[in-house]
Amino acid sequence: MNVLINVLLVLGTVALMEFVAYATHRWVMHGPLGWRWHKSHHEETHGPFEKNDLYAVCFAVVAIALFAAGSLWWGRLTWIATGVTLYGLIYFIVHDGLVHQRWPFRYVPRKGYLRRLYQAHRLHHAVEGREGCVSFGFIYAPPVPDLKRQLQGNKSIRPELRPEVSPRQDV
Ligand SMILES: [Zn+2]
Ligand SMILES: [Zn+2]
Repeated sequence: MNVLINVLLVLGTVALMEFVAYATHRWVMHGPLGWRWHKSHHEETHGPFEKNDLYAVCFAVVAIALFAAGSLWWGRLTWIATGVTLYGLIYFIVHDGLVHQRWPFRYVPRKGYLRRLYQAHRLHHAVEGREGCVSFGFIYAPPVPDLKRQLQGNKSIRPELRPEVSPRQDV
């Protein structure tokens, strides 16, 4: 029973973190203040790191603080901290790895849900600037045709991507 509760705590935290990440990405990182760090991620990167990586550091500090609180006060917090860490790992694999290829090998998903996640986040980057972007989540992505529809008529689509977001073509 205890094991089940702990597993549910980890999985529940991963699900909850998707909401936290979505809200942070949409309203903080794309907001006027948070954009100061996130802008670096929507521009061409020079060097291995970008200012936006500081957000990952912030989430890591939260996870470490939860692990510490778990060992000092309430053991179950350790499982919540594990969920936050697991979400960070999934975020790294999907976002930094699959989409932005920040690892030393190249793998682009060709089909299935991973392909949808990949395409949805590419469309997040199709817009120039912080406004009018779509798809802010990292483990849930809306259907790609819906995203393309939302982007239709958006004047800030990067010129080189305009034919790509046309609903008749595949990304
Ligand atoms: Zn963004
Ligand atoms: Zn990105």
